Amino acid sequence: MTADDHRLRHARASLRGLAVGDALGSQFFVPANRQALLERTLPPGRWRWTDDAQMAASVAAELVGHGRIDQDSLAASFARRHDFDRGYGPAVNRMLRLVREGGDWRELAAELFNGQGSWGNGAPMRVAPLGAWFAGEAESAAEQAELSATVTHTHREAVAGTIAVAVAASLVAASTGPLDPSALFGDVLEFVPRSAVHMGIRRARDMLDYGDVGTVAAVLGCGRRTSAQDTVPFALWAAARNLGDFTEAFWTTARAGGDVDTTCAIVGGIVAVGPGGRPPAQWDEHTEPLPEWAFSPDE
Ligand SMILES: [Mg+2]
Repeated sequence: MTADDHRLRHARASLRGLAVGDALGSQFFVPANRQALLERTLPPGRWRWTDDAQMAASVAAELVGHGRIDQDSLAASFARRHDFDRGYGPAVNRMLRLVREGGDWRELAAELFNGQGSWGNGAPMRVAPLGAWFAGEAESAAEQAELSATVTHTHREAVAGTIAVAVAASLVAASTGPLDPSALFGDVLEFVPRSAVHMGIRRARDMLDYGDVGTVAAVLGCGRRTSAQDTVPFALWAAARNLGDFTEAFWTTARAGGDVDTTCAIVGGIVAVGPGGRPPAQWDEHTEPLPEWAFSPDE
């Protein structure tokens, strides 16, 4: 296999894990499925993924096409592939519509939230396949993650959260055996700028030996505010504790509640790229296939 074959294989595994996490996680927003969550039973039918997988597919397509993030091209892909029915946040819905109508993504992203830029979890949620693409190249993963984030999310917290997820995926993708969760956190933190996300990840590292997911989610957050800082530390905690076990990683994450499709997308995208971390075949079959354009260079 060539180096690019390896990159492609890792990115595909991560995107598939991300999509399964997103699709199954989003099932549990349906009140009728609450009981299934408590009992860990799978909802029937076809599970449809949401904006997390749709935008992650654009990130993957960028890497397949260019080998790195070209921000203009990524912005164009997000806008072209924008699918209103996939549950995007209102700010991104509006922004991508304006980009399609000829708006400048740089200005539009910077203007969000009274000029502070978005600190939402929408950039971390789509970046795991990028980290997987740069398996073992944590510095490149961090650098390219930042470029991928600021196309829509310019706030420091969103950038920090995106870097954290990408570096975690990069390190997990390069691993050949079980990783020590605490050491993984230490390696990730080296790349994350000072921020609430950084502090949250440190706190998450201190809670690695806590078994009660409810307590951990109460301290770290689990995406209820849909911010990077109340999403990424918890997602890293759930992923690091369950490397090599997609099933346990998923149920642990989903059980906390919050922004379930996104926390499960991040966890799925990280865990699926490590040894033994693929989703069960039955889960894969329930999940809508990935879009064909994700792994063919964007036209
Ligand atoms: Mg979503």
